Amino acid sequence: MRPIVVAGNWKMNASPAEAGPLATGLAAVMADEAVIRIIFPPAIALPPVAAALAGTGVATGAQNVHAETGGAYTGEISAAMVAPFATWAIVGHSERRRDQGETDALVGRKLVRCREHALRPILCVGETLAEREGNVAEVVVRGQLGGALDVLDPGLRADAGSWLVVAYEPVWAIGTGRTASGADAARMADVIRDGLRARGIEADAIPVLYGGSVTSATIGEFLAEPGIDGALVGGASLKVDEMAGIVARAGMTARARADAADAR
Ligand code: PEP
Repeated sequence: MRPIVVAGNWKMNASPAEAGPLATGLAAVMADEAVIRIIFPPAIALPPVAAALAGTGVATGAQNVHAETGGAYTGEISAAMVAPFATWAIVGHSERRRDQGETDALVGRKLVRCREHALRPILCVGETLAEREGNVAEVVVRGQLGGALDVLDPGLRADAGSWLVVAYEPVWAIGTGRTASGADAARMADVIRDGLRARGIEADAIPVLYGGSVTSATIGEFLAEPGIDGALVGGASLKVDEMAGIVARAGMTARARADAADAR
């Protein structure tokens, strides 16, 4: 049975001084152990957030790692540098694809760096509005997924079921207040699992999350889809009340799915 995951991406918000208290406040309302819960602060706030979350059951993640192991990359941060403070990393977020020109192959190399340092990556894929309106959303998502996974060697691919998480994040839904429908997200989760299977990856073991303007009011529509296993939450992850509602709803789904599995 796949776990339910709620991941909060703070993006470029919360200073190191603000981050610890915010993480403490969030952890207090994200206590449901039936759900995998992760907070992704800005890199400079990883140490205080990791300290604040120690012993709470809420994990810390990095919003990005560099594709190289180290060297002359001014302003960048490596997987080795974040690993003492994080157990997860976001890879291939659309804001980085857009602003830093990250390619699928580069994103694939970041997956490799993550695994060298035992970080569990959340690989983000998703189409733009023009691509959706041009009826190429599935082609785009398949291409992003394949382009990253093709970088992995056979050994990494063989055990991807134990470490990979994929987030379907339509670009037009991120930070816009618009969301995909639950049915659209579920359809794309099927496309993602087909792409995983095509590369010999144990697709049924891999959580697929939805991301894009998720709130406590909208999370239920996505979790009602059996193929969707949680959410990558941006703006709402800075709000304690919102995260309380999102994790509470995720906990209900985790328990309902566990009961259904037991009954089988
Ligand atoms: C995100 O940052 O991945 C995200 C989905 O943001 P938001 O929830 O604000 O749309």
